[in-house]
Amino acid sequence: MSRVYNFSAGPAVLPEEVLREAAEEMLDYKGTGMSVMEMSHRSKAYETIIKEAEADLRELMNIPDNYKVLFLQGGASQQFAMIPMNLMKNKVADYIVTGQWAKKAYQEACLYGKANKIASSEDETFSYIPDCSDLPISEDADYVYICENNTIYGTKYKTLPNTKGKTLVSDVSSCFLSEPVDVTKYGVIYGGVQKNIGPAGVVIVIIREDLITEDVLPGTPTMLKYKIHADNDSLYNTPPAYGIYICGKVFKWLKKQGGLEAIKEYNEKKAKVLYDFLDESKLFKGTVRKEDRSLMNVPFVTGDADLDAKFVKEAKAAGFENLKGHRSVGGMRASIYNAMPIEGVEKLVEFMKKFEEENTNV
Ligand SMILES: *Cc1c(COP(=O)(O)O)cnc(C)c1O
Repeated sequence: MSRVYNFSAGPAVLPEEVLREAAEEMLDYKGTGMSVMEMSHRSKAYETIIKEAEADLRELMNIPDNYKVLFLQGGASQQFAMIPMNLMKNKVADYIVTGQWAKKAYQEACLYGKANKIASSEDETFSYIPDCSDLPISEDADYVYICENNTIYGTKYKTLPNTKGKTLVSDVSSCFLSEPVDVTKYGVIYGGVQKNIGPAGVVIVIIREDLITEDVLPGTPTMLKYKIHADNDSLYNTPPAYGIYICGKVFKWLKKQGGLEAIKEYNEKKAKVLYDFLDESKLFKGTVRKEDRSLMNVPFVTGDADLDAKFVKEAKAAGFENLKGHRSVGGMRASIYNAMPIEGVEKLVEFMKKFEEENTNV
């Protein structure tokens, strides 16, 4: 067996310890004589799995009692519709568009009501986070929407927007559990888990209870109502049971690492290795405004598309996988989520130095 350093943006690297544990439990989960994959979601054993997962997540993020935690399906993209369907009481919402994911969410919301693009960084290929201290928030906005970490472009909000009292809704898919958050600042925090927490197929929604009502847009399917899932503790229908089980293991792994303060420190140290090198390199350059840099997704270029392609190819041969940038932007991107060990980043930088020496004329 040999494992590579996997810099994929998602689905992405998971802690090896978690994968090993899951492998050990594959045929016989704790004496039940079956895999978690084969077990009723109404069984005692599964009830313990989902309850513990929620309790551990609540502990990690310090989630107050007046917030529900929902384990749903459909990926982050399904939330692009579910959010307006459930929250657009006035049929008005404000969107800050800082990348493709925020743009898709904005476009989806336009199907259901009046979505206003109140700020955007598209003018400079989403390479920065706009100043959100005094935006023209709509008086009757049901919520203000952001994508907190822009997976494709590698930017992250360092301060949350001033929503002037309106409910903040945030897509945290690619920075979920990468650092502590103050949940009380949000109405909804949600994310697909395949970036930083678990296998694709699960989306976690953390939502303030007063936002969960019967008063949804006409025609909203039962499966897309937050209330039905909240009332049934995420067991209205069969949940993505195996995926939730893996998420639960990752929560326990995070607790063992020392929680979100500790993982943030580790993530900062790890990202610094790469960013420091990019800042001094004569060949490679980071592509986003320094103060808006993400700790999770690090895009970079050489400035020459052929050389970029050569780098990606040689890196792959050396055991560094998935460094090709998103198909919409080109270049390279190293996603360095929680489970990427710092050695992976150090070895990548060593490799980049060697590549630089070999490919610059001196
Ligand atoms: C990957 C990603 C999505 C889309 O997730 P799906 O689960 O494929 O729908 C949405 N938002 C962000 C920030 C992402 O990184």
